[in-house]
Order: sequence, then C-alpha cells, then structure tokens
Amino acid sequence: MKIKVGLLTAVFLLANLSIATAAPIYTFPVAACTVKYAKTHHDYPATDIIAKKGCAFVSPIAGVIDEVVLVDKWSGKTNKGEDRGGLSVSILGDDGIRYYGSHLSKIEVNVVPGLRVASGEKLGEVGATGSAKGTSPHLHFGISYPTQNGIWWVRRGVLYPWKYLDAWKAGNDLKPVVKTPATIPAEPKK
Ligand SMILES: [Zn+2]
Repeated sequence: MKIKVGLLTAVFLLANLSIATAAPIYTFPVAACTVKYAKTHHDYPATDIIAKKGCAFVSPIAGVIDEVVLVDKWSGKTNKGEDRGGLSVSILGDDGIRYYGSHLSKIEVNVVPGLRVASGEKLGEVGATGSAKGTSPHLHFGISYPTQNGIWWVRRGVLYPWKYLDAWKAGNDLKPVVKTPATIPAEPKK
C-alpha cells in the first residue's frame, strides 16, 4: 500500500511537472474576452463564438497563414459562398489541420499567406462582416483538412469544433480528429 501511494505521488508530480514546463500547443481562438458558443451550427459543422466586436482572434496553434480575405464583398442579393466569410484568415497548423476564422472586423497588417505564426498570436479582431452583417459580432470558427485555395465549402468547417474549444479553454491540448476524403466534395449549389 505504501509503495502504491509513493508511486502515485511520483506519477502525480511528474504529470504536474510536464504541465508546468510544456507550452500549450492549442489556444482558444478568442483571447481576453467573455465568449459564448453553442454545440450546434446552421447547415454544416462549425462553431460561432459570440464575443464583442474588437476582441482578439488568435491563432489556435503554431503554423503558417494559408488564405487571407481582406475585402468584404458579400451582398445579400448574391450571397455567394466565397463571400460569406467577409474578412477571414485560415491557418495551416503544425498538426496538419486547417483552422479558419471569419466575419472579422479587422485583420492584422502583417498577416499574409506564408507568414509563420505562434499559437496564441493575434491575427485579427472579431466582427460581423460577410453574411454576419446585421447579426451579433462573432467569430465563425471552422476546422478542416487542407485543400488548395478557394475551396470555401471545405475551409468553412467539416467537423464540430466545440469539444476541442472546450478542451483548449480549459488548457488541455486536444488534437482534432480530421479525416481527409479521397475526393474533395463538389461545390454546393447554395
Ligand atoms: Zn458560422
């Protein structure tokens, strides 16, 4: 019994040591602001993280900036898929997974495709651009497998991020499980 307790104490100390020394791999994508998000999303898997306009959108992981949309071209008349995100940034994470944040009010000037970013680095600010016009400011957050540029229907999200968001918020490095299909689905009609 004594040995068992001793062993458990050692394991506990070691576990704490690794938590204290290792930098977090994943960062919750909205920093220093009160947030709210649901376990659902309209039409396809993603998460809308409600936060005040101007709250920092930060990179959820270290990686390389993938695509950046700097101009809001969305119109309610056309509602084109590629315009719905408004101002947006996608990141190819070092874990091989793509992360996407959209409806931004602002993108940091240095954020351009190919830029190397750290986990938690500020990329832009929460807003209501694109199809979020007229709604509460929020960060649309999507997780997907990487594709070539412009495949907006994959980039916007292919799996529900909420359980990863919950983990990262609590300081746990949970890697999303993302499957890359043999063929990329065709562009949806709407
Ligand atoms: Zn959304």
